[in-house]
Amino acid sequence: MQLQSDIQSQSRTMGLAARGFRPLYRAGSVNHCPGCGQTQWHVGRMSAECAHCGTAIPLAHVAAQPMQPLFHVTESATILAA
Ligand SMILES: [Zn+2]
Repeated sequence: MQLQSDIQSQSRTMGLAARGFRPLYRAGSVNHCPGCGQTQWHVGRMSAECAHCGTAIPLAHVAAQPMQPLFHVTESATILAA
C-alpha cells in the first residue's frame, strides 16, 4: 500500500514537471516548500533553500531576468590573435 502511494506521488510530481510546473521563491510572501511544505528558507542571491529538507528553488525575480554574461570583453589579445 505504501509503495503504491509512493508511486502515485512520484508520478504526480513527474506529471507536474512535464506540464511546466516550476516552483519559484517569491520574496514578501509565504512560500511553501514543494518538497515538504514547510515555510522556513535560507535565502541567497540566486536561490532559496528549504531549512527543513534542503530543497532549493530559484528566486522569482532572478528567474524572470534573461541570462546575460557578467561582463563583456571588447578587446582581448587572445581574440585578436585568432
Ligand atoms: Zn522542504
